[in-house]
Parts: sequence; C-alpha cells; structure tokens
Amino acid sequence: MTFVNLSRLVIIITQIRGSGIFIWNNSKFYLLQFLLDFYSLTLFWNFKKLGEMAIIITDECINCDACVAECPNNAIYEPDSEWSYSDETALSGMTTTPDGREVDADAENEPVSDEFYFIVTDKCTECKGFHDEPQCAAVCPVDCCVPDEDHVETEEQLLAKKVWMHGE
Ligand code: SF4
Ligand code: SF4
Repeated sequence: MTFVNLSRLVIIITQIRGSGIFIWNNSKFYLLQFLLDFYSLTLFWNFKKLGEMAIIITDECINCDACVAECPNNAIYEPDSEWSYSDETALSGMTTTPDGREVDADAENEPVSDEFYFIVTDKCTECKGFHDEPQCAAVCPVDCCVPDEDHVETEEQLLAKKVWMHGE
C-alpha cells in the first residue's frame, strides 16, 4: 500500500469513527458525516485505480535523459523522435496488439511530442514484470512521470502487454 493509500485509509477510519460518535449523540450532522464517509471510500477506490495506469510524462519534463536507460520496454523517446514497436522488443512485422489492433511493428511512427521526452503508451507496462515500481518515476528529478488517467489498465493487462512485447 502506497503512502497515499495509507493516508486515505486513515481518513476513512477516522470518518467511520466520527459517524459512530455522531450516531451515539443523535447528532443532526450524521447525514453529512455519512456522505463524507461515502466520498472518502470513493476517493480510496480511485487511488487504488491510480496504481493500474500507464505512465505519462508531463510538460514539466526538463529533458534530462535520466529515464530512458531505465525503461525495460524502451517505451521512452527523446523529443521529436520517431518510434516503433520493434525497438528493443521481440516484435516484428504485422502483429496484433493485446487489445486487438493490427499494427506494423517495424513502422516508424510520428513523435508523440516534439518538446519533451515522451512515453509510448502501448509499450509502457508500468514496469510490471520487471520491477516493483515505475523506474522512470523513480529516477525523474522533477517528478513529471505520473499515472496516465486516460489509460487505465489492470495488472493483468499490463503483464499481457509485457508478454506480447517480449514473448515471455
Ligand atoms: S513505467 Fe516503466 S515501462 Fe513505463 S515508461 Fe516508465 S520505465 Fe518504461
Ligand atoms: S527523467 Fe524526468 S525530466 Fe528527465 S527526461 Fe525523463 S521525464 Fe524528463
């Protein structure tokens, strides 16, 4: 459990304890407290989901190059670089992605960013299958490698992506 999830859990326990006190006192704030409990549980669930996303590099990137060598999937590219699925993977020729798309693994694709280092979402497994935590985020000096809320994936999907790219 991450520090954020642990903090959220403590808040939830506090909220539930608070509800008990309000019920005991027949307080008119009981409904408000109940709603806060529900809100906290919702946030907790969302934080759980944050751990199951690909990683994205934000525009706070200072182009220091520290993350590239750390990526086990070669999913990180310099600004304005073309990229391919076959770069440092076992993929070649026409292949089907885990989500069912037909792609040419050897094709050179357009850069995702011409200003900052970028991560190819299709190649990012959040380091699942290699490391316990995203290595790019671990080395980034400005903490600009963050969960990509537009690409929520389960651990099973991330591991399937890893097998697809490396054949094991
Ligand atoms: S999380 Fe891991 S696999 Fe994804 S880009 Fe960062 S280093 Fe590469
Ligand atoms: S380590 Fe962070 S700041 Fe450096 S290139 Fe990678 S994403 Fe950008």
